[in-house]
Amino acid sequence: MRRITILGATGSIGQSTIDLIARNPDAYVIEALTGGHSVETLARDAIRLNAKCAVTAHADRLQDLRAALSGTGIAAAAGPAALIEAADRPADWVMSAIVGAAGLAPGLAALKRGATLALANKESLVCAGPLVMAEAARSGARLLPVDSEHSAVFQALLGEKMESVERVILTASGGAFRDWPLADLARATPEQAATHPNWSMGQRITVDSASMFNKALEVIEAHEYFGISPDRIEVLVHPESLVHALVGHVDGAILAHLGAPDMRHAIGYALHWPDRCDLPVARLDLAEIATLNFRRPEMARYPALEIAQRVMQRGGLSGAVMNAAKEVALDAFLDRRIGFTDMVPLVSRVLDRLDRDSGALDAEWCLEHVLAADQMARSYASEALGAAAGAEQKAGIS
Ligand code: NDP
Ligand code: MG
Repeated sequence: MRRITILGATGSIGQSTIDLIARNPDAYVIEALTGGHSVETLARDAIRLNAKCAVTAHADRLQDLRAALSGTGIAAAAGPAALIEAADRPADWVMSAIVGAAGLAPGLAALKRGATLALANKESLVCAGPLVMAEAARSGARLLPVDSEHSAVFQALLGEKMESVERVILTASGGAFRDWPLADLARATPEQAATHPNWSMGQRITVDSASMFNKALEVIEAHEYFGISPDRIEVLVHPESLVHALVGHVDGAILAHLGAPDMRHAIGYALHWPDRCDLPVARLDLAEIATLNFRRPEMARYPALEIAQRVMQRGGLSGAVMNAAKEVALDAFLDRRIGFTDMVPLVSRVLDRLDRDSGALDAEWCLEHVLAADQMARSYASEALGAAAGAEQKAGIS
C-alpha cells in the first residue's frame, strides 16, 4: 500500500487528487491532509479517506477542526510548524498543492526525507529553484511536475537526451482577457479576471492566467526544473488549451503533448509514474476538434512575461521577490485597491528597489534567505501600495 500526504487538500488540485485516490481507497494509506480555512472540507475528506491526521494552516481554525473530527481518532493540528510536521510524516508520495510561497517549506521538508514530491506548487521552483533541486539531488527524492505544461514536457522528454532539445514551448490559453480591447484592461474587475475560458482552477491561479503572471511563473519553473536556458523557452497563446506543451529537437522534430484540460491527467500521471493507468479524463476527438490555433503573445497585453525574462537574467533571489510582490499585488487587485494593469508595475518597482539594495538578491541559497527576501519584497510592495493610496487620497482632498 502506498502512503500518501496531500498538502493543500482542500484546494482545486487537492480535491482532484482526492477524487483519484477515492476511486481506489484500498490502494492507499493517507498519512496527512492539510488545508487552510476550509476545515469542514478537510475534516470530511480526512474521515472519508481515514487519514491519520488533518492540519489547518490557521491556528484560529483548530477548534473547529477538532470539533469536526471528534470521536474519529484522527489527530488534528494547526499552524505553519504543523504543516511541516505533516510533510515529515512517513508518506512515500506527497502532493504539494498549497498555493503561493507558503508551499515551499512543507514541500522542502518532504524532499529532505527523500519522499516523491508531486509538485503543483510552482512557486517553490520560482522562489527557490536551486535550493529545491539541490535538496532533491542530495536526498535522492523524486520530484515530479504536476503543472500541466511541465508534466507535458516531462512526458515528451521520455527517452530523449537533453542535449538534443532545441527549445521548449509552453502554451497559454491567454486567460479571461485574451480578446479584450487593450484599452479596457485597466477597468477589468476581479470577477471578470477569475473566469477562465478552459480550466477550472483556484481563484488566484485563474487571475494569474488572465494577467499571464501564471505563465511567467511557469517559464521560470521550466527553466529551473529542466535546466533550459531562458532563450530556449517560448510561450504560445493556444486558445483551445489542448496542446499543453511542445519540445523541439535539433533535427527539427517537435513532440507535442495533447489532452483534455483536466488536471486529473497530470496528477494521475504523477501518482502512477512511471506507469500509466486508466484515468477518468475525457478522450479527445481530433476530427471533431478539427482546428488548433496558435499565436504569439502580445507583450502589450501580457507584460508579466517580460518580468519572467528579467528574473531569469538576474537570478539569485529575484524569483522569490517577484513571487512575493506578485502575491501582494494580486491581493490588492482582488480587494479592489489597485487596477488589473497596476499589478505588473508594482512587481517591477519592488524588483527595482531590491536590485539596488546591495546583496539583497545575492545571499547564498538557504530557506531562511529565501523567506527573508520574500518578507522584504512583501513589505516593500505594501509600502508602495500605501504610498500610492496616500497620494490618491491627497489628490482627492485638494
Ligand atoms: P486553491 O486556492 O484552490 O487551493 C490552495 C490550497 O492551499 C487550499 O488547500 C488552501 O486551503 C491552502 N492554503 C491557502 N493558503 C495557505 C497557507 N498560507 N498555508 C497553507 N495552506 C494554504 O489553489 P489551486 O489548487 O488552484 O493551486 C494550488 C497550487 O497548484 C498553486 O501553486 C497553483 O499555482 C498550482 N497549480 C494549480 C493548477 C490548477 O488547475 N488549479 C494547475 C497547475 C498548478 P483553504 O482553501 O482551506 O484555505
Ligand atoms: Mg500550468
